[in-house]
Amino acid sequence: MTFTRISHFSLFFSSFFFLSSTLSSHLYPASATTPEKDGKTRSLYSEILRDEAVARLNDLGKVSDADGYLERTFMSPASVRAGFLIREWMEDAGLRTWVDSMGNLHGRVEGMNASAQALLIGSHLDTVVDAGMFDGSLGIISAISALKVLKSIGKLGELKRPVEVIAFSDEEGVRFQSTFLGSAAVAGILPVTALKISDKSGVTVQDALKGNSIEITEDSLLGLKYDPASIWGYFELHIEQGPVLEWVGFPLAVVKGIAGQTRMKVTVRGSQGHAGTVPMSMRRDPMAAAAELIVLLESLCKHPRDFLSSGGNCNEQTLESLSTSLVCTVGEISTWPSASNVIPGQVTFTVDLRAIDDVGREAVVYELSNQMYKICDRRSVSCIIERKVGRFPKHFAKHFA
Ligand SMILES: [Zn+2]
Repeated sequence: MTFTRISHFSLFFSSFFFLSSTLSSHLYPASATTPEKDGKTRSLYSEILRDEAVARLNDLGKVSDADGYLERTFMSPASVRAGFLIREWMEDAGLRTWVDSMGNLHGRVEGMNASAQALLIGSHLDTVVDAGMFDGSLGIISAISALKVLKSIGKLGELKRPVEVIAFSDEEGVRFQSTFLGSAAVAGILPVTALKISDKSGVTVQDALKGNSIEITEDSLLGLKYDPASIWGYFELHIEQGPVLEWVGFPLAVVKGIAGQTRMKVTVRGSQGHAGTVPMSMRRDPMAAAAELIVLLESLCKHPRDFLSSGGNCNEQTLESLSTSLVCTVGEISTWPSASNVIPGQVTFTVDLRAIDDVGREAVVYELSNQMYKICDRRSVSCIIERKVGRFPKHFAKHFA
């Protein structure tokens, strides 16, 4: 996902304050700090959390496989170089580092109790094509900077629990068209078949790792899974993937969850014909029908209350949630035969529909499909709606929020 600017560097400080809650003693009771010490501490904060972090973001933003734009894919030369750089920064912050067999880079400090549940902080080191320099890098660099401040003031050893920063090798899935290779391995949900997925030149995930002297086997992949009982929580600072915070003027916000997702493919078939000879009254035009279906989708997703009534599957809470979180997109459309002087015979388009409320999302898909079939009937075209993939929503822990 592409982002090019950030409005406020208080984002860096948020990682630091979050982390300070895991210290055995509070970092700042203001009364415990002399003015002189306070001034020093403050300048240390701006040096490490702001100036150095910004410089590192700029440095990492230049580590690219492409000339003129940022691109780092799973195990590419630039990804490996980025890994070396991040590892250096982790060690500079006092962390013990290692690379696991899926190429994820870890930096850990045990704190006062190595067997306590660990706090994981991380983000991805790969990027999309022509990425923004904050995407992924922000979460990794801010975590390292926060820990470096603790090291600088001698508090790293006072952490109540282990803290581990993870730079995930793959989130975007650009090279293998399979997202979250890195984090899915750590979560223990990456199937072993993923090792055999090939990129465009026929190189498999396993080969790509081997090319960088990382041996992975089915067994070692299974061994990457972290026992949930050993984890206290996972925190990730991420650039907003949309325009809302900047629009409302907030420097940062807490993500409550990740929306569930439904993807569909809609195929509309009509009667192919000559643009000059078929009278308007005799047409069964799938392009015009598709246009009406797409406008219907937009109306339903903009005003779900006008389409879904309270009661049945949809209660007031669901309707309220849909009103604020439902988003729907048609991103791809194709026609056959796609000529300017031919009424198409077939039009196909995709639908990407997301909402945090699962019941609401299902209700929208149901209502949308019903209304689409009615429009197709009225226009005497055939309409096939296929559901491609679905993903359930994820609600985050309230005590983090
Ligand atoms: Zn990202």
